[in-house]
Amino acid sequence: MKKPVLMPELDNEHAPFYAHTRLPTEHGEFDVRVFKEGDKEHLAISVGDLCGAEDVVARVHSECLTSEVLGSLKCDCNAQLMAAMALIQKEGRGVVLYMRQEGRGIGLGNKIRAYHLQEAGADTVDANLMLGFDEDLRRYDAAADMLAALGVKSVKLVTNNPLKIEGLESLGVTVSGRVPLITGINAVNHGYMETKRARMRHMYRSGELGLEGGEASGLSEAKVESDAG
Ligand SMILES: [Zn+2]
Repeated sequence: MKKPVLMPELDNEHAPFYAHTRLPTEHGEFDVRVFKEGDKEHLAISVGDLCGAEDVVARVHSECLTSEVLGSLKCDCNAQLMAAMALIQKEGRGVVLYMRQEGRGIGLGNKIRAYHLQEAGADTVDANLMLGFDEDLRRYDAAADMLAALGVKSVKLVTNNPLKIEGLESLGVTVSGRVPLITGINAVNHGYMETKRARMRHMYRSGELGLEGGEASGLSEAKVESDAG
């Protein structure tokens, strides 16, 4: 039996390295590493050798239980996660950091409360504000530390979100490029996607938000989030 390689060099300030394994998935085989930030266990899901690498295709993805476990159609998170994992396999090198910050950092219970407010017509930004939170509480210290611990020198960030790029750059991560990721649009989340574009500076044009099979899956009568206000 091969002895597991523990990597003390992966230690870092915000999220010390904790565990590593190879994980076969429907997208191919990945290295999965756990980094612990307090009681939060973040994952680095990677392909290829990242140590000293530049222009590494990287996604910093925030956990979304409703979409990834329950198959919720209210957002695009699960489709983005699956697409990012498939992309780094295709590239032969890359990393998805899976960060345990549900609901843009407000937690699962508060996200569900925000959804309740959205049923009454609030959009995703106003719902968070009505609950007393900023629109986006996510922090990227741990993600920046994890990239540094993995030896990544610069990233091509898979995102539509300028805040994420600015957040990582402010923590010393070199973002050498961006890979747009537009997927998982349906009749239910079209308004949510439009809100992210109009109010959170997400980088896609309205016309790019084509539906992916929303009609075919019987969602035509589902309530579409209003982006008014
Ligand atoms: Zn989501």
